[in-house]
Amino acid sequence: MTGNGSLERLKREGRIVVVGASLAGLRGAETLREEGFAGSLTMIGDEPYEPYDRPPLSKQVLLGKATADRTDLPRRRALDAQWRLGVPATGLDMAARRVRLADGDEVEYDRLLIATGVRARPWPKEEEAELDGVFVLRTRDDATALERALAQGPRRVLVIGAGFTGSEIASACRERGIAVTVAERGAAPLVGALGGVIGEVAAEMHREHGVDLRCGVMVTGLEGDSAGRVRAAHLSDGNTVETDVVVVSLGAMRNTEWLGGSGLGAGPRGIACDAGCRAFDIRGIVTDDIYVAGDVARSPHPLFGYQFLSLEHWGNAVSQAETAAHNMLSESTERRPHIWVPAFWSSQFGVNIKSVGVPTMGTEILIAQGSLSERRFTGVYGYQERVIGAVTFDQSKWLQFYQQLIETTAPFPPSFPTVDRRPEGQRPVDADFPDPSVPTHGPTVTVSGYSPDDRRLTFTPARH
Ligand SMILES: Cc1cc2nc3c(=O)[nH]c(=O)nc-3n(C[C@H](O)[C@H](O)[C@H](O)COP(=O)(O)OP(=O)(O)OC[C@H]3O[C@@H](n4cnc5c(N)ncnc54)[C@H](O)[C@@H]3O)c2cc1C
Repeated sequence: MTGNGSLERLKREGRIVVVGASLAGLRGAETLREEGFAGSLTMIGDEPYEPYDRPPLSKQVLLGKATADRTDLPRRRALDAQWRLGVPATGLDMAARRVRLADGDEVEYDRLLIATGVRARPWPKEEEAELDGVFVLRTRDDATALERALAQGPRRVLVIGAGFTGSEIASACRERGIAVTVAERGAAPLVGALGGVIGEVAAEMHREHGVDLRCGVMVTGLEGDSAGRVRAAHLSDGNTVETDVVVVSLGAMRNTEWLGGSGLGAGPRGIACDAGCRAFDIRGIVTDDIYVAGDVARSPHPLFGYQFLSLEHWGNAVSQAETAAHNMLSESTERRPHIWVPAFWSSQFGVNIKSVGVPTMGTEILIAQGSLSERRFTGVYGYQERVIGAVTFDQSKWLQFYQQLIETTAPFPPSFPTVDRRPEGQRPVDADFPDPSVPTHGPTVTVSGYSPDDRRLTFTPARH
């Protein structure tokens, strides 16, 4: 469907297929209908459930405050779609514009939205991963099974990995009065996402809440009993932790294997797409009929040196899906770039943590407001003398302000006075990321405007 009048025809009677029936898939499909798409819409999902929300799975569900089957995503509108749930897509024929399904069926499309997200990285030793009492947390079924194990009152839970999800799991265990050990390879919890200065605060939070936190160690093996139940974990420092529940929280793997051999630019790092969400093929040429959104996508962000960002953020999935759907139904001059400023939230140990921008690019951090020791502060990250990210602990009301600084490439450290600036916030310190990104000297791009139609990029070439 290309050429004159083809867009109108696509909107009237085209076929759009969405693979991945979760947050990005649903919001993309809703946007298609909102923007006047009246043709046939097929939603393909390998899980047997209609779209549900994942953030509550590590929070309310593990606390026993909600059941995993009550986390359906609210619907913005009726979709009038054909749902193919419980059936994975297994292949893509780009030339014939066809998606193959595991049940042997094939579905043809004029436009395809890929939103297959990520899955939990399993424990690498298969036999150990299969022991009773070893869990991951990504899906509704994972959360149900883990919550059931916690409700049985285990002697001790071992969480492997202290990123956001691992830390939230540890927090939920402590809130339920369950003994928990956290093993983290890095120097502190959250160190990969927020750096060592904030990681130190996170470590104190764990310990104050009674977590047995072991940093700088790796779990080298899990041991089962004769009935096949996990009973202990061995650590790289020679210690052993007796445990009957192990939660493997080692990050995520992108769901791209089904695209192998299709010719699409898809791999372990996700599916590369342009800022308009159109997927690249393996030659690096952008496709016109295949769009990507959500956790599985990697797209260049003008504000962050055109780096291809892979974000596992709820808000990114929604925004990118909306942009992809809009662009699918638009002439090239009407298309929009996906220039959502990354934002993330987490709640753990009674503290609300939010971040905006790309803290991991930050080389320095300034505690611009509040105090680390009070666990109520705003940390601002700087990169090449500009504000690149911010994090708040129980101070989210300031985040919008710092987002504007990021969008306008405001100088770092901020030169103006801030409310509740303490002596510790007078000077930036090393943000202390374990593996700092290599600085690049690119052009400066700023974003302005609020409504999607007003959003504008201003491009200032690099000075050499
Ligand atoms: C426990 C947990 C807590 C979280 N907490 C937060 C939080 O506090 N804040 C935040 O910002 N974000 C949080 N997130 C991240 C957020 O939930 C994700 O960013 C969001 O779910 C991404 O949506 P998505 O649609 O891109 O991918 P997903 O939600 O991963 O959905 C992809 C869907 O595609 C399906 N699929 C995969 N392969 C195929 C195939 N071949 N055929 C058909 N279907 C397929 C998958 O099974 C899945 O249903 C959390 C995630 C988890 C797991």
